[in-house]
Amino acid sequence: MGGSHLTKGSLKEGVKSPSNLFDAIPAVVRGGRAVISSGDEAIVASVKNAVSSGSVATFYISHKQFEMVVRWYWTNERIARYKLQPVSGEEIARISSEFGIKDGATWYFNRRACDFCGKEYGAFEFIQQGIAEHGKEMVNFILGSKEVSVVNVNLPSFAICPQCKNIILPAAAYHMPVGYSC
Ligand SMILES: [Zn+2]
Repeated sequence: MGGSHLTKGSLKEGVKSPSNLFDAIPAVVRGGRAVISSGDEAIVASVKNAVSSGSVATFYISHKQFEMVVRWYWTNERIARYKLQPVSGEEIARISSEFGIKDGATWYFNRRACDFCGKEYGAFEFIQQGIAEHGKEMVNFILGSKEVSVVNVNLPSFAICPQCKNIILPAAAYHMPVGYSC
């Protein structure tokens, strides 16, 4: 999951109130990051440029900008290459009841088995790992924000088998239409 140090509070309050946004900017910039204000096309072009150039970046963008990125990135050819499959309703229900994450959208994930012990690694295990690494609040923010979509670009991520702790390759590829894609 994402590697940014932006907090839920600074983003949410920032969107609601410009004065809070201006309070949040110095902290973000001091941390060596940036806040960019621009039109949808230019923001989407920045994301595309990071993807194409191999830069590692996390973008916090609007759902509209996210949709523009997703339409460009997740072509049928790419979906097939990464073996993304829709996550079943049953698995979504399990994620929702186990972790309290509610997101009605269709998720896509490259479910596969651990080479070592054979345990299947799917969206459920991915969310479980995300919560273990980043906390429930962060995961809920990423999947449940009304205003913000999160796009991780070229961020190294390791799928770790919950049963034997082996690293499962290839790394997780996923697409959650409301907010998270890699
Ligand atoms: Zn395993």
